[in-house]
Parts: sequence; C-alpha cells; structure tokens
Amino acid sequence: MTHELMTADCGAKIVAAANVVSNIFDPEVWSRVPFHFWSLAFFVFGCNIGSFLNVCIHRMPLGQSIASPPSHCPHCKYSIPWYLNIPLVTWLWLRGKCKNCGAPISGRYFLVELMTGLIFLGCWNKFGRESAWLALVYCLFLAGLIVATFIDAEHFIIPDEFDRIRRHVGDHVDITPQQARPRGS
Ligand SMILES: [Zn+2]
Repeated sequence: MTHELMTADCGAKIVAAANVVSNIFDPEVWSRVPFHFWSLAFFVFGCNIGSFLNVCIHRMPLGQSIASPPSHCPHCKYSIPWYLNIPLVTWLWLRGKCKNCGAPISGRYFLVELMTGLIFLGCWNKFGRESAWLALVYCLFLAGLIVATFIDAEHFIIPDEFDRIRRHVGDHVDITPQQARPRGS
C-alpha cells in the first residue's frame, strides 16, 4: 500500500471515529446527569489517563511498546496487580515505594496523574456546558502535550509520533473554540 493510500485510509478512519464520537456526545444525553457528576467523572478519568501517560513518558523514549508488558516495577520487574495500580491512591498509600522491593517510585508518577486529572476537570468546567465533545478534544490534546513536555524535559527530544498525530488530527478535525467537528461536516 502506498503512503498516500495509507494516509487516506487513516484519514477516513479518523473521520468515521469522529462522527461516532459526535453522536455519543449529544448534549441532550449529557444534560440528563448533574454537571458536577461529570466534573468528578472527568477528574477520575483524567487520573487514569495520567497513569497511562506515565507509561508513555517512561517507555516511548526507550522505543518500548506502550501496550505490553503490563505495568511493572522498573527495578525488580514485579508485575503490578490492578488493586495496586489505582491512580494517586497507590503512590500515596505505598509512600512512593515499590510494594515488592521497596525501591523509590518517582514523584513524577503522582504529579502526572494529578495534573492530568486537574486538566481534564478544568477542560470540562471550561467547555463542558458548551459541548462534552469539545471538552474531550481539549483533554486529549493537552494529554498529548503533557507526554511531549515530560519526555522533552527529561530527554530533550519529542518523539516523531507526536508530529504524525498532530498532522493527522489537524488535517481531519477542526478544533476551534466554537466547535470541534470532523472537517467538511
Ligand atoms: Zn520493585
């Protein structure tokens, strides 16, 4: 498959996904639940995304997969069970140490989870009344920036993936303060 075909195929998939997401984010549906229920949901969701961003920040510069293996201690390779993988809570409960070997776990893990949770909460409060979809687009955009910022701060590089994603999103989704929607719709 040529590069152009792959790009067009990828573009079509992004537009199709954006249309599905637009339907899910029908404001009518969202307004049936109290606004601050969604505030809490966005914060908790953000903390969980933050946990995933930590994996990206650690593994992407090393060229490792972000999908597997599951979260483990970098010192003793102890595979972290789900009940010890709760954003913010686990780090505080174990006082920033591995449960198995006691090696220190960087405060960055806690910071990124908290920051992502607060940013998601902020995006919901700023854009949620207008459009949940718009709030989510900003959340994901800022999540990408968090990863790029922390990798850049530590390694002085920004992985190529970010530029590719930025170009694809920029080509197919119109993100403006008024509305975020697939281009051409
Ligand atoms: Zn360990």
